[in-house]
Amino acid sequence: MKKFFGEFKEFISRGNVLDLAVGVMIGAAFQAIVTALCTNIITPLIDLIIGTIAGKSIEEMTSVLKVGPIDFGAFLSAVINFIIMAFIVFLIVKGFNKLTSLRKKEEEEEEPATKTCPFCCSEIDINATRCPHCTSQLEK
Ligand SMILES: [Zn+2]
Repeated sequence: MKKFFGEFKEFISRGNVLDLAVGVMIGAAFQAIVTALCTNIITPLIDLIIGTIAGKSIEEMTSVLKVGPIDFGAFLSAVINFIIMAFIVFLIVKGFNKLTSLRKKEEEEEEPATKTCPFCCSEIDINATRCPHCTSQLEK
């Protein structure tokens, strides 16, 4: 079970999950724009054109055919929502990248646990005073 959680932690920290989440969020937000475009601009426009072809007046269209008004404001607010969302996602990704690069730096700056014996060139413990391979006396 411990191994399972370890794997899960690794899976999250790799950043693939973040990429996936960003993709889903941007996709959902973009869908909202498309929906707003259709309901507020394209559908009313089509209704209006069909109504005009059928020879209906604007009053008839809105009352009988229930044609919605063309609403640029609603569409614009959907676009603005998308921009704000994208900006927030950008900040999250930026913060996450900073965090992971910081962690990487910490790992890199960790002191080495081994040194190389100057006599036989084997890797030995950093605190060794005598090489376990060639038994040479080492200076600290
Ligand atoms: Zn040695």
